Amino acid sequence: MSQGREQKITLGEMRAGQGGTPGLLVYCADYRCGHMVRLAPDEVEKWADDVRLSDLEPQFTCTKCGRRGADVRPDF
Ligand SMILES: [Zn+2]
Repeated sequence: MSQGREQKITLGEMRAGQGGTPGLLVYCADYRCGHMVRLAPDEVEKWADDVRLSDLEPQFTCTKCGRRGADVRPDF
């Protein structure tokens, strides 16, 4: 858990690449659970440009298994 924390792109970089805010796919950190939630672009708008996807990941808790942490990816 402590090693190799991945630096993911910021929301600003994501918006620049897409010409707008894409939605996000939030996957449970436990691959055996596999729960996924899709966030609509208007839900993603509340976060600033300098927020990294890897900053958001610890903020999610799986609604299915209750595990904290997630794998966040752009929903292109
Ligand atoms: Zn889960």
